[in-house]
Amino acid sequence: MNPSNKTLSVIIPSYNEEAMIQTTFQTVKKILSESQIPFEIIFVDDGSRDRTYQEISRLSKDNPEVQGISFSRNFGKESAIFAGLAEAKGACCVIMDCDLQHPPCTIIEMYHLWEQGYEVVEGVKTSRGKESAFHHLCANGFYAIISRLTHIDMANASDFKLLDRQAVDALLAMPERAPFFRALSSWIGFCSIQVPFEVQERTVGTSKWSMWSLTKYAIRNITSFSGAPMQAVTLLGWIMLVFSLVLGIQSLYRYFTGTAQEGFTTVILLLLIIGSILMISLGIIGHYISRIYDEIKRRPKYIISRRCGK
Ligand code: UDP
Ligand code: MG
Repeated sequence: MNPSNKTLSVIIPSYNEEAMIQTTFQTVKKILSESQIPFEIIFVDDGSRDRTYQEISRLSKDNPEVQGISFSRNFGKESAIFAGLAEAKGACCVIMDCDLQHPPCTIIEMYHLWEQGYEVVEGVKTSRGKESAFHHLCANGFYAIISRLTHIDMANASDFKLLDRQAVDALLAMPERAPFFRALSSWIGFCSIQVPFEVQERTVGTSKWSMWSLTKYAIRNITSFSGAPMQAVTLLGWIMLVFSLVLGIQSLYRYFTGTAQEGFTTVILLLLIIGSILMISLGIIGHYISRIYDEIKRRPKYIISRRCGK
């Protein structure tokens, strides 16, 4: 494919989406063909345990615009996005979910903005779709923290983005082993614009995210983008020191004035509090060390086991 053309690469990470592959392809194809946008579709099978890859492979036989790659195991959506970007030949790439929660018609709007010269077109959720109040609260908390730490406005951010070839190359040049696509695609800069979209209902299957996997995702991304938790530990240390000094002076005063009391409970309580703070602090530092360890091993972000199409 000639990179100087105006081909759009549609990248679709897919994990256990056998029921959606056909529908998603037909919907995207119809919309893009009607708007006469030249395109290719790259399905990235993220180590699915169902027949997702077989479905992609079947599609690629009849449709030259479909390409599929399959991971040797589940490496996660971020890895699938980066694998898709590495395969894409288009002049711009759009990343969308396989469950059609990202409305394909918004791609047309994004593409036209790209034609006007925008290099990063970010899909911003106008609503978060149907999710529990607790999930909503946690997501808002996470994005509030990460926006503050990274100085990137991440409120209602999504992975639904269109990137110009230059932006794609900048992302692919990042050596990080655990990239956070949503933030990195803003961090790289370039001329960007936001496009609001309404999260659609998932018609088939269920969300692949459990509360536990979301918590891990939040911790991983906060620590990969900011050293603030470690600074917080230092601050906590200083606060505890001042507190201990005040307490020490007060105890000495009481000792010399003869009003000192037996302080068994206080001592045990203080020991417990300081012990817990120390353990949490060590945990935070340990987390960063394990991230450094992961990075230094230089393992690939994903391993491709099968390919089809093209
Ligand atoms: N996905 C993936 N790998 C994973 C989990 C999810 O490639 O480990 C894909 C999934 O197939 C879908 C997209 O990421 O295309 C969004 O996943 P999901 O719909 O489960 O997330 P939600 O919409 O609930 O955020
Ligand atoms: Mg979804």
